[in-house]
Amino acid sequence: MKKIPPYKAVLCPFCGGIQVTKGEKHFRCRLCGKTSSFRHENKWNVKLKGFQEEKQAREYCKEWKRRRAGKTDGFKSGKDM
Ligand SMILES: [Zn+2]
Repeated sequence: MKKIPPYKAVLCPFCGGIQVTKGEKHFRCRLCGKTSSFRHENKWNVKLKGFQEEKQAREYCKEWKRRRAGKTDGFKSGKDM
């Protein structure tokens, strides 16, 4: 399994909030305050995409939000990275 890059664009499984995190195994949602592990029993629990640069992750977040707001959802889960 590939190591996840340091910056991740993540989608909170509780509230659907999209944000950037530096967490390695989990993150705490800024919107609902809940903590989610990225993986659970070898399955991806959180939709995420990793980046080497924080800027890239932020750009992706913007794009992701825009995509979710629209009708196309071409997002692939973390395992496809
Ligand atoms: Zn949340």
